[in-house]
Amino acid sequence: MPEVAEGYSYGIFISCRKKHFPQVLIFLIIISISACEKKESHVATVTVSPASVTIEIGDSSQFETILQDASGNVLTDRTVSWSSDNETVATVSSSGVVTGISEGGPLTITATSEAKSGTARVMVTIAPVASVLVIPSNANVLVGKDLQFSAAILDARGVSLTDRQVVWSSSNTDIAEISGSGLVTGLESGGPVVTITAMSEGKSGIAQLMVVDLPVGVIWMFGNLKDQISWALDYNQGLLDRNPHIATQIEAKIEMLDSPTLFNEITDGSYYYADDVISVDRRQISLSTVFPQDNMRSDASQSVLSSKLAMPLLEEFMSTPFPYADFYIWYGFIMGNLGGGYRINMEDQETYEARTGPDRLPYEAILFHEISHSYIGNESLTQFLETYLYNMVHTNSPDVESWIYMRGYTAWEDSNTGCSALLDIYQLIGNDNMSKAYKALYLLSPPYGTPLSKECQQVFIDLAPTAVKNQVAAKVLKI
Ligand SMILES: [Zn+2]
Repeated sequence: MPEVAEGYSYGIFISCRKKHFPQVLIFLIIISISACEKKESHVATVTVSPASVTIEIGDSSQFETILQDASGNVLTDRTVSWSSDNETVATVSSSGVVTGISEGGPLTITATSEAKSGTARVMVTIAPVASVLVIPSNANVLVGKDLQFSAAILDARGVSLTDRQVVWSSSNTDIAEISGSGLVTGLESGGPVVTITAMSEGKSGIAQLMVVDLPVGVIWMFGNLKDQISWALDYNQGLLDRNPHIATQIEAKIEMLDSPTLFNEITDGSYYYADDVISVDRRQISLSTVFPQDNMRSDASQSVLSSKLAMPLLEEFMSTPFPYADFYIWYGFIMGNLGGGYRINMEDQETYEARTGPDRLPYEAILFHEISHSYIGNESLTQFLETYLYNMVHTNSPDVESWIYMRGYTAWEDSNTGCSALLDIYQLIGNDNMSKAYKALYLLSPPYGTPLSKECQQVFIDLAPTAVKNQVAAKVLKI
């Protein structure tokens, strides 16, 4: 910004120069003298503007200074330092940007130049609640069981607000009651849907709740149990001719499935286990297993609990909510594993380990493989996800150095193909880029049973840092 005094002189200079050349020289001298004088003049006053502001926590506001000498001339190019007398409430940057940290004030912001200072007052207020989201948004609870709801309280920018009071209510307290902390208890099934409301500062969010006698996933599985038994019987019979080396185990499955009382044993004996997991988009996804023998209960239950650990990791890595509303595991009905997507058939762990050698894949890795097929058809891409999930669940680290299960991988071999080539790429481009690649690949739907298309290969090359692009381009040809 030009200084006021200089601007005046210049204006006169322009208007005079044609008619009065000698005067121009005089003015030039005056200008240069006054310029010299200003360099030496000292700051007499510091004015901070605005003089006071009120900001919300997390917001920022720019303050300016006007520096003047004793004659009222505005001075520029002088160093100004800033300070806040209460940095727990608001901080100020070296350029005069004030940021609200916590509720409070008024506090004083001081700008100092050449031992002179000016001040402004700042109040910091809490942001008002703009919206309330109830988590899960849609849920089921068993009669006599509890389900914890939570509320995300957001300001107008979508920033989460903490320490706000929330009042919970149920639209039908005969069917479901809710505590002051959002814990719902199912009292009676068969009623209409109950609306759960969370209210904070006049804003509210809702969720729909059903109270049921059986977990919803299990209701679906029991409804399909007769079909499942007859399908599994056919499936195992079809395996028998092609797999004479495991005929004994297959025949045991066939005999079990052929029993006319099997259906009633499963339903009357409650041969099921169910849990649920909250997806990134607030849905309650049911995880259920049904199994044909009571002695499978603990291993089958473990499959559901492992799935519950893997699913949030998978959602995060894929940057995509789980694509289905429910997840079903038919446990122990068939030899081998089948499915993918949200409905899978898992061989029971005992039979699997009895018929395979010590170099077998961990049972849980196979489960994670089948869950991963919910997103991706392509087999190599799914094997990588299986490896990633198994290690994330067991080491909680995305770093290959600390992984304990590598699917026979040896790093950087030129001969690496499929999953091993993907593990090389993972190390070349890093976890974040790999995650972005999988999000893009999910949208491209690479199918099962074919090599990766050129378009899919390009996804990895595009995301690779320049220094490793050529290496990645060579590796993608091996997938
Ligand atoms: Zn597969």
